[in-house]
Amino acid sequence: MIETRGLSHAHPGGPALRFEDVAVSQGGTLLLRGASGSGKSTWLALAAGLLTPQAGEMIVAGQAVALQKPGERDRWRARCIGFLPQKLFLSEALSVAENLALVYFASGQPVDRAAIQRALAALELGALAARKPSQLSGGQAQRVALARALLLRPPVLLVDEPTASLDDAACAAALALLQHGAAQTGATLVIATHDARVVNALPAAPVLNFRAIHQEAAA
Ligand code: ADP
Ligand code: MG
Repeated sequence: MIETRGLSHAHPGGPALRFEDVAVSQGGTLLLRGASGSGKSTWLALAAGLLTPQAGEMIVAGQAVALQKPGERDRWRARCIGFLPQKLFLSEALSVAENLALVYFASGQPVDRAAIQRALAALELGALAARKPSQLSGGQAQRVALARALLLRPPVLLVDEPTASLDDAACAAALALLQHGAAQTGATLVIATHDARVVNALPAAPVLNFRAIHQEAAA
């Protein structure tokens, strides 16, 4: 479940971003749609507790995100938020399987090697567990990042521009994997996108439209 009220944020020196209120039930899908620079990634960072809003409140997976203490918030994020960022942030120092193992360290839980293998196998990545991220295709790397995001079966899956550089077939495949992954874990799925193909492919999903920001002076 995700609910916002009167949410706004401005990055230092950036425009004031005001977000429409939204309520998504557990297991639902929400699309954040708008032009580049309209605030979609900022909204996702607020939902993940990576930023604290200047005003308003945001309840994500039962938690008022801004009210948590920093340590609590990091642990909550590791357990409750699956994040598939636009830039994947896979560590080149580690194998695919070790990249997934980091999730357990972040959440303070013992590493479950069998669960890592299952998560990789579910995305047809089992044979690639020992590879380094640079030895993967772009699509494989994105699937590794999705496997990482879903590993702890988080109640919320946040996805930033998953289809930006994909052709039509890869776009459809990526969306199918996201929906399947969210359905398997019962996660609420939020996809930020400026790609009309995503909106067309998910006609039943509510859309939060982000208006283009015309360099409104920050307070
Ligand atoms: P979108 O994801 O829709 O492209 P963003 O959330 O990335 O939009 O950015 C919204 C606005 O905030 C833009 O005007 C952008 O320049 C500004 N912005 C984003 N991140 C920062 C930052 N770290 N510092 C200052 N301004 C930022
Ligand atoms: Mg963005």
